[in-house]
Amino acid sequence: MNILIFGPPGSGKSTHSRTIVEKYSLVYISSGDLIRKEIERKSSLGREMEAYLSRGDLIPDTIVNTLIISKLRRQRENFILDGYPRTPEQVIVLENYLFDHGIKLDLALEIFIDEDTSVERISGRRICPNCGAVYHVKYNPPKVPGVCDVCGSRLIQRADDREEVVRKRYRIYTKNMGPIIKFYRAKGIYVRVDGDGTIGEVWKRIQPLLDYIHSREEKRKEHE
Ligand code: ZN
Repeated sequence: MNILIFGPPGSGKSTHSRTIVEKYSLVYISSGDLIRKEIERKSSLGREMEAYLSRGDLIPDTIVNTLIISKLRRQRENFILDGYPRTPEQVIVLENYLFDHGIKLDLALEIFIDEDTSVERISGRRICPNCGAVYHVKYNPPKVPGVCDVCGSRLIQRADDREEVVRKRYRIYTKNMGPIIKFYRAKGIYVRVDGDGTIGEVWKRIQPLLDYIHSREEKRKEHE
């Protein structure tokens, strides 16, 4: 089975993607990870993308399409795609790629949370610039406020985790995903899952759906 997963900032989709990858032997392709890697390499493409992100803006379609499609080309396994497509232009590029290669999407899964939940989860995040440890002021606080438990460094808030940037990211997400959700709903593969609650609670909503699709695909393969 091939899956698209999406959700507003803080929906927990990356965490759930990792569980899905393990349980159903899929390849995880994350636009965020690919973008981060490119930024860490400090390539000219990476620096260009960093400038967009620090303003809370989306990266242009042509750049994202190039990153994702070249990744899809390099692997032939079933996949879960996280954070892509985000615009109608990206949908068209992806659909053309899948059509040309005879690949079928089985599920477009949205893990949904409202704007205030998104802000609470993201703007409370603190990271250690020295060792990379991640904290949350409410859900996973360090022993001493503002100080890393592991190495004693001063914790920071990432620029795109600030409340006003999160609200902007949330609204961009909602605005951009509207027509995409409509498209996948018309194809009959869109499912929205409530992302409120703990990771375990949300997973209990996702798993039956994936088990059902997985067993359906296994049966279909048997009949081929
Ligand atoms: Zn640290």
